[in-house]
Amino acid sequence: MIKKFLVILVGLMLAVSVGCSSNSASKDEDRLVVTTTIGQIADIVKNVGGEHVEVQSLMGPGVDPHLYQASQGDIKKLSSADVIFYNGLHLEGKMGEIFEKLDKKIVAVGESVPKELLLGDPEDSKAHDPHIWFDIDLWTYAVEAVRDTLIEVDGKNADAYKANTEAYLKELQELKAYAENRIKEIPEESRVLVTAHDAFSYFGNAYGFEVLGLQGLSTDSEYGLKDVQTLVDVLVDKKIKAVFVESSISDKSINAVVEGAKKKQHEVSIGGELFSDAMGKEGTEEGTYVGMYKHNIDTIVDSLK
Ligand SMILES: [Zn+2]
Repeated sequence: MIKKFLVILVGLMLAVSVGCSSNSASKDEDRLVVTTTIGQIADIVKNVGGEHVEVQSLMGPGVDPHLYQASQGDIKKLSSADVIFYNGLHLEGKMGEIFEKLDKKIVAVGESVPKELLLGDPEDSKAHDPHIWFDIDLWTYAVEAVRDTLIEVDGKNADAYKANTEAYLKELQELKAYAENRIKEIPEESRVLVTAHDAFSYFGNAYGFEVLGLQGLSTDSEYGLKDVQTLVDVLVDKKIKAVFVESSISDKSINAVVEGAKKKQHEVSIGGELFSDAMGKEGTEEGTYVGMYKHNIDTIVDSLK
């Protein structure tokens, strides 16, 4: 009887010690564990945090943040984090309640952009367009919000965070110059960007494009036959040559527009796939913010010029 009890006791102790050691192994000494929602924010944290942070991003390639619901695994990643960054401005529409319940350092980077620089939501006068990463100047506020937060929670590495931020922002300014330069190849009257949902208004604002999306700011809204017809009329009217699909949204709606134009004897092609709310695969060019932005610029310019 005693022997059996001892075996159980030793077993329990083993289980506890294994549990502890695996716990400390997953939290690499004093690296800060940071959880983010979209890849664009994870990219900021990786660049600004460098070797001092471990980043876990919830939303991978092809994932639509508007409709995203957290899984059990995500809840773990959120509760094990030292800091959480999300976009806010209702981008992660279904996650608000979870964020509210978490008792830890949690920052919506979109809230750091001055309100007067935000675009409105045509369907809701109190809301704002959340897709701020397409305007590099606005995204700079998000980068600075990450820097300031990391310094606040991990002051001993402040110098590294400042230097990394400076280097990253320089890269973003070079990206902006690249984009401005390439877009000059498109004649002004051809600068019309047609996509599945309204993710590109900041992009349009920054580079002088008229932007038309089939669905509203959130993919939560439905589109109807009338929306397709309205878009088709604009395409025919302005002799637009190409429309674009998005990596995180089904291409069904955009195909309906191409078909509609064909019926009116106007040939429109799919100009390619753009990264809107999700980035490309990790380990590829497009899996980084700079790479996905360049991909978008090159795809748009090559189809519309
Ligand atoms: Zn969106």
